[in-house]
Amino acid sequence: YANHMSDDCLFCAIASGAIPSEKVLENDHLVAFRDIAPKAPTHVLVVPRLHVENVAELAATDASLLAEMAAAAQEIADRECGGEFRWIFNTGAAAGQTVFHVHGHVLGGGELGWEPA
Ligand code: 5GP
Ligand code: ZN
Repeated sequence: YANHMSDDCLFCAIASGAIPSEKVLENDHLVAFRDIAPKAPTHVLVVPRLHVENVAELAATDASLLAEMAAAAQEIADRECGGEFRWIFNTGAAAGQTVFHVHGHVLGGGELGWEPA
């Protein structure tokens, strides 16, 4: 996947295996691994191997890859939280994005609140 990688990107390094993670699902196009600081009983990050910054850029570049990510998120939630989950893409620092390689957060397995900041 070297042609897809971006130097100095944490999630490219995790996707390639250069940095270890607790992977729960992996195929030629994407990886999913447990968030290092879980905010719910299930908190998994679904990450395409392709390095793009955010979900809009991914949708514009390869919409079918975004659809594959949604299917992977559902598969993980089916396994771990009865198929019910929250699917979050933070876009931009003001929204809390800290890693600028697109990732969908799969959150579930508990009572998820919806509080204002
Ligand atoms: P963002 O805030 O960009 O939407 O989400 C980035 C997520 O990556 C955060 O929830 C953070 O806990 C997680 N994270 C940051 N560094 C690592 C790491 O080295 N390993 C794993 N597994 N998760 C990480
Ligand atoms: Zn990357």
